Amino acid sequence: MIFAIVLAAYIFCNVATRYLNGVGLERGFPPLSTGVWWIVFVLALIVHLVTHELGHRATGMALGWRCVRFGFGPFEFYREKRGWKMLRVKLLPGAFVRQVPPEFTGFRLQKSATLLSGPFSSLIFGLLFAILTLTSSDAFFFRVFGLFSMVCFLGTLELIPREKNGIGSDGYRLWQVIQGGPPIDDMIREIACESSNFNRPRWRDWPREIIARLAIGHDPYNIYLAYLHHSDAGDWKAAGTYMRQLVALLPEADPSPYYACEAAYWYAARQGDPESARKWLERADQAAADENRRRASAALALADGQFERATLLATQAIANIGTPACGSDQCEIDLLRYVLTQSAAESNIGALKFAANG
Ligand SMILES: [Zn+2]
Repeated sequence: MIFAIVLAAYIFCNVATRYLNGVGLERGFPPLSTGVWWIVFVLALIVHLVTHELGHRATGMALGWRCVRFGFGPFEFYREKRGWKMLRVKLLPGAFVRQVPPEFTGFRLQKSATLLSGPFSSLIFGLLFAILTLTSSDAFFFRVFGLFSMVCFLGTLELIPREKNGIGSDGYRLWQVIQGGPPIDDMIREIACESSNFNRPRWRDWPREIIARLAIGHDPYNIYLAYLHHSDAGDWKAAGTYMRQLVALLPEADPSPYYACEAAYWYAARQGDPESARKWLERADQAAADENRRRASAALALADGQFERATLLATQAIANIGTPACGSDQCEIDLLRYVLTQSAAESNIGALKFAANG
């Protein structure tokens, strides 16, 4: 397959170069000197990568997808809750943009459109530079636009399905999206949390059949997704089943802080079991999952019968989230509100009992 791509690229470049050289000779334009050719070639590569990735992004933007990560050469940028961070990576042989959808209805169609639009943009820019080349009356710009055009056209080769080290071309992923099945399940697994952390979907909006299929195995992350999905949908019976599976799979010593906090919340708020909740919360203590720990602590105070403290912690945690910016924020606020209503209800019952006894 690689051989076929290289051969196709070689034939294309050869034919195009000959053609452009022919036109150039007819017009009496001299070719670029080797040094200048290399400079223009590097510029052309940059133009090609930028126009190709912007093609992917333009469709994503039109469909409401949010960019969460993109990379170019040795730099990678990723979105955090507040703002962007940059990372130096070992030299990337190209560029990429990663985006997450605003909803999962019609996901395959949306994904196909974002995949197709990169090669389509390469084609459009290739044609645009070809027109600029053929209409150029200046020798230098004739050569520069000619090279730009050819390198941009090469971006359409991304449509050829190929895969290496788990990284597939646009064509490869398009083929997966068209076929459906397990690769789609894996795509959903990869973007579920990010889509909720950076875009509109709530946990309950993740495609249920896919989440259920993923959770069949013994992968803690998949079971964690299924727990979140069902808890947000208000199906605490199913959520409880998944949580029991999850805690059975977690290592005693060092579970992920996210899993441990979620287990603590569930034991405290839904099982009324402060001992188990405390045990899980302690395991999460050293780690970074601040937001989740705040919620688990509020739930633990509720389970301990410290209603004032539970109310205070939950109120603080809601204030900390502020204006909900994404689906996950909405879910967090609802889970915290549950602690607030339970605290209010139980302290009222306590007050009534006190009044009755007094
Ligand atoms: Zn692409």
